[in-house]
Amino acid sequence: MPHTGDMPSDEFLLSGQSLIEWVANYRERIDEVPVLPDFKPGHLSEQLPAAAPQSGEPMQAILQDLDSLIMPGMTHWNHPNFFAYFSITGSGPGILGELASAAFNINGMLWKTSPAATELEQVTLEWLRKMLALPDDFKGIVYDTASVSSLHAIAAAREAFSDLNIREQGMAGRPDCPRLILYCSEHAHSSIDKAAIALGLGLNSVRKISADEKYRMRPKELALAIEEDRRQGWRPFCVVATVGTTSTTSIDPVQAIADICERENLWLHVDAAYGGSAAIVPEKRYIFDGCDRADSLVMNPHKWLFVPVDFSVLFTSRPEVLRQAFRLTPEYLRTPEDEQVENYMDYGVQLGRRFRALKLWFVLRYFGVDGLVARIRNHLELAQMLAGWIDEHSEFERMAPVPFSTVCFRANPAGISEPQQLNVLNERLLAAVNETRRIYLSHTKLGDDYVLRFAIGNLRTEERHISTAWKIVQEQLNDLL
Ligand SMILES: *Cc1c(COP(=O)(O)O)cnc(C)c1O
Repeated sequence: MPHTGDMPSDEFLLSGQSLIEWVANYRERIDEVPVLPDFKPGHLSEQLPAAAPQSGEPMQAILQDLDSLIMPGMTHWNHPNFFAYFSITGSGPGILGELASAAFNINGMLWKTSPAATELEQVTLEWLRKMLALPDDFKGIVYDTASVSSLHAIAAAREAFSDLNIREQGMAGRPDCPRLILYCSEHAHSSIDKAAIALGLGLNSVRKISADEKYRMRPKELALAIEEDRRQGWRPFCVVATVGTTSTTSIDPVQAIADICERENLWLHVDAAYGGSAAIVPEKRYIFDGCDRADSLVMNPHKWLFVPVDFSVLFTSRPEVLRQAFRLTPEYLRTPEDEQVENYMDYGVQLGRRFRALKLWFVLRYFGVDGLVARIRNHLELAQMLAGWIDEHSEFERMAPVPFSTVCFRANPAGISEPQQLNVLNERLLAAVNETRRIYLSHTKLGDDYVLRFAIGNLRTEERHISTAWKIVQEQLNDLL
């Protein structure tokens, strides 16, 4: 007879202790393993059985396979030499907060279904709002990712035009519903396009505004595009400005964009998924200039505030519009407290939600505001140091300003004048660097140029890691030449 019931407590305690030891050891020795695995597609799948085990297995066997099967296929985002995309950290307090959250395993759809989850989210997001010096009337809500936060912001922007009544009538087959147009710069994140797909606006309704030589949206072009679209009989409804674009971390001129939005009565959404965290550093507050005038703003504590993935926050000064867009309460979800409390299910597509605020609370309390500021400031300084080394080197050039902790550069040695040849060289350089598996960089394209990105954001990254990485890049270029 198979047993019923959960894992016995004594076994949980023993297995739990060995897993915590395993995690502590992993964190301690992460330096000693390559950041990138040597792994062919399908390699793990081939080693795993085709069906789940018929009888249960001992925890010990599972933990062993964590080392023998899973570890070899891991790309270590916690590695101090992870410089690709945007570098992140599953910090100690964050991991522990995640563990406590898993233990509670609540569903915070309603205040009633776990009052502390709703209230801790309200309080910690209010702490975060103050740390970021955002206006008092900005209210926060946690979603999984910036993509989903922006999707909700754009849905609220559409809802704000109540005359169209899209919530009830939809957009299809309606001669009285003009094409709705959404604006962002050519450097905006692809999640904005995806939001347009998901919301039924269509990709052709996303107008990409050209950027200047520092990769910032040109407000004059934005104003012209809006005028042109209005002439066509279309309906501009939302502008997305980016503070810290994904390719180069450029900052759109939010103040000038806000002027246009105000004049044209458009919803202003700011995507600060990566860059937003830097606003807790007093001397970096300027990055949010004009953001107090936004209708909504997204930033990701899971990117650069040391909270484990996933954790994104949407702040909005118009929560009632967001709620109007998504509130829908079937009888079985009514509670006696509905009039007195916030029910987070009213603010989005998802009903169930996990207790994410717990890990933010752990991180904010453990490091404290001063501790977090010091850590982000350190990353900003490390990036400036690297930018300096690149600027001094005759065979490399920096490809964009460095307002945050990400440096865009490429090799440009003497004797190669063909742009295409230069692109091939840099593509091969990136491949060679990553094939060492000792460091991990990624790339982007700026215009026609292939560019390498070096993103600093892990708590374990120190000056010595950056200087070794820089040495590896130079060595690999030498070998290629
Ligand atoms: C990373 C990033 C996103 C997407 O973030 P997810 O949380 O992975 O959806 C969106 N916008 C910008 C500017 C980003 O850097």
